[in-house]
Amino acid sequence: MVGRLEGKNAIVTGAAGGIGLETTILMLREGASVLMADISDEGLNKALSKVNTVVPASNRTGKVETKVVDVSNESQVEAAVAHLDAWGGLDIIFNNAGIMHPKDGDSEECPEDIWDRTMNINVKGVWYGSKHAVRAFRRHGKKRASVINTASMVALVGAGTPQLAYTASKGAVLAMTRELGIVHAREGFRFNSLCPAPLNTPLLQDWLGDDKEKRFRREVHFPTGRFGEAIEQAHAVIFLASDESSFVNATDFVVDGGLTKAYVTPE
Ligand code: NAD
Repeated sequence: MVGRLEGKNAIVTGAAGGIGLETTILMLREGASVLMADISDEGLNKALSKVNTVVPASNRTGKVETKVVDVSNESQVEAAVAHLDAWGGLDIIFNNAGIMHPKDGDSEECPEDIWDRTMNINVKGVWYGSKHAVRAFRRHGKKRASVINTASMVALVGAGTPQLAYTASKGAVLAMTRELGIVHAREGFRFNSLCPAPLNTPLLQDWLGDDKEKRFRREVHFPTGRFGEAIEQAHAVIFLASDESSFVNATDFVVDGGLTKAYVTPE
């Protein structure tokens, strides 16, 4: 059976983390070759070993490699994209790396250096990934290509538990992605944002820790009564990456179990 991403070359940033790793695994299962990019060398090694266990080389048609990349450093992002020139050129980039810093807070609390760091990774990282993806698509004469940028549902609804830098950064991802989708629509390059709800991944779970009150403050608003899982985001990314979504462009693709549509949740 031919995979939904057969022959496509993809980069996943934040590939050592929850959503990035699950997406890498699904992309390989669907026939893509994947460059796993992350700032953490140790994280990449662990992630690659899981990938090789779950999708052994004998069960895949594409290849998988890792590269340490800080997405807030443009030359590193450019080099990661150029790495795929030898594979036949980039077809898909999932600009997914992001941080939510524990020192983030409301407008009084968030220190300026945390604001800048959050913007550099969450916004500039997505800009660099998108910019060098477009250059690569053109260089290789691609007629169809897909960029998926991870935003968050906090870019769509306000929260009484503020992380202002994070929220503002994800709002920027939505606006930037929407505009890029329009600018490049006639070239066949699609840009969509992924808007996850709170998830069962280290990014949020490490921060919540054992704090029951902090957890309850969030859980009471979940229509499904639970956090989302990284794999549920990964399935959406595969759809957005594949030609099945050829008419889906410049959208805020919300995968949140209904959270952003709920007024009162079931008891
Ligand atoms: P995660 O913490 O499990 O993974 C994030 C990965 O990004 C980590 O492996 C980390 O090493 C990497 N990273 C951090 N800074 C980097 C940099 N400068 N360059 C390259 N890599 C870097 O988190 P996750 O839940 O998989 O989150 C992935 C994306 O989803 C993020 O953009 C996050 O903001 C977004 N998101 C997460 C949630 C959630 O509840 N977990 C909700 C909405 C949106």
